[in-house]
Amino acid sequence: MTPTSGTLGTGSPDTPGDSRYRKSQPTFLGLPTAPRGVGHLRGDRSFPDAARDSLRDGQLRANLGHATATIRAKRAKVVGEVPDWAQLREAGRAIKAATMARLDEHLIALEEQVTARGGTVHWARDATEANAIVTRLVQAAGADEVVKVKSMATQEIALNEALEAAGITAHETDLAELIVQLGEDKPSHILVPAIHKNRAEIREIFLRTMPAVDPALTDEPRRLAMAARSHLRERFLRARVAISGANFAVAETGTLAVVESEGNGRMCLTLPRTLITVMGIEKVVPTWRDLEVFLQLLPRSSTGERMNPYTSLWAGVTPGDGPQEFHLVLLDNGRTAVLADELGREALHCIRCSACLNVCPVYERAGGHAYGSVYPGPIGAVLSPQLTGVEDNASLPYASSLCGACYDVCPVAIDIPSILVHLRGEHVEAQTRTTPESMAFRALSKAMSSPRLWHLAQRAAGLGRLLARGRATLPATLPPPASHWTRTRDLPTPPQETFTQAWAREHRR
Ligand code: SF4
Repeated sequence: MTPTSGTLGTGSPDTPGDSRYRKSQPTFLGLPTAPRGVGHLRGDRSFPDAARDSLRDGQLRANLGHATATIRAKRAKVVGEVPDWAQLREAGRAIKAATMARLDEHLIALEEQVTARGGTVHWARDATEANAIVTRLVQAAGADEVVKVKSMATQEIALNEALEAAGITAHETDLAELIVQLGEDKPSHILVPAIHKNRAEIREIFLRTMPAVDPALTDEPRRLAMAARSHLRERFLRARVAISGANFAVAETGTLAVVESEGNGRMCLTLPRTLITVMGIEKVVPTWRDLEVFLQLLPRSSTGERMNPYTSLWAGVTPGDGPQEFHLVLLDNGRTAVLADELGREALHCIRCSACLNVCPVYERAGGHAYGSVYPGPIGAVLSPQLTGVEDNASLPYASSLCGACYDVCPVAIDIPSILVHLRGEHVEAQTRTTPESMAFRALSKAMSSPRLWHLAQRAAGLGRLLARGRATLPATLPPPASHWTRTRDLPTPPQETFTQAWAREHRR
């Protein structure tokens, strides 16, 4: 796929590079009919079903509660140190909005700069295309194994599985990703994929799966890190190909950026001969000045650090230094369709810091696996349904109490609660079958549109006082369909006097 035949705002597939959509109509964004995302974006069960299982797992809830509370406290401390955090956050929001408005132009500039510096850019409409491109590149390099830097984009497209099907072994090198891979598990957090595991569980995985591990390994964090280090070192030294994601790409110079904490990224990005980077198209920023803002926002919001330990930046290839072949795969996989939604497109501003996960009361209890997609928590609840089409992830927009904590902490001020409500509306409007809920709302709408019916309904509701027998709430054991509500929520007893009656009484005086 080339940029001029693609699904971005550069025009329809029949109008290659159509500049109408770039200069004269800058508000045209995305294509609603663009291909939807495939890969690890859908679960095989609805959120409530999957969450029910997680809620029964006491160990999981304890692990999550402890980990999220620790990260929350660290984040709050370092964010509190920045006097102009609100302005910085607004700058991040504004840069993202402006970048999305001209995403096609920035991507083409990025392609030109990467190419001018000796790299090759590939455009992938969806996960299937991206996997085919990467597999072909690894095979062309004559490799049957690769080392990987943690990357949400490659998890999204299920790259490891695609490589395995082609006889290529992918070694995850981020410690938490390694734990998940060796445990044949799934990541459950954007930043800390093994957040659901505690030290004792990690020790058990290492003893079971690392061939050369010391049998006297303890669950001391330093010992566990040392075991992982010697396991990985050998793989770093022999790998001919590395695969990374990208946190950002600077269009003006074609520079890619990866931020990480363990140094494994630096090894992958410098040692192998061939480097392949898979990046969602929304990760581009126009200039270095823009990058500066995000490099301040990201570490404080994610790991609660003032700056991250390793920031790797590279552009194209440098003869005799680092990888001698560089490929950048630009991934759409549903993003162009998200861009076409005026309200929902804000989800593409996400810099994957995971702050919204750590404050979300639903995530903290249900854990990441319940969301089904590689993107869990509040951002997952708005991003996954948009990438796949809301009909494919219909339960996720409801996986929220709408408390707004996610919006408060988001470093780029994504209004997640409003997008959740917007997606719930889309889901309801798409319903064609009649449900008890739709019947109830239709009846309510009728009653609320007619004063006579409304007064009758209020009088009927007053009968509920008989059931309450003086209590403040109605009994939890009401018959269906009322039991659907009372099983999990309080239903207040109707008051003696309604607002309308009180108003009439007051104004008669
Ligand atoms: S939505 Fe905001 S808080 Fe959540 S991961 Fe993305 S940038 Fe971070």
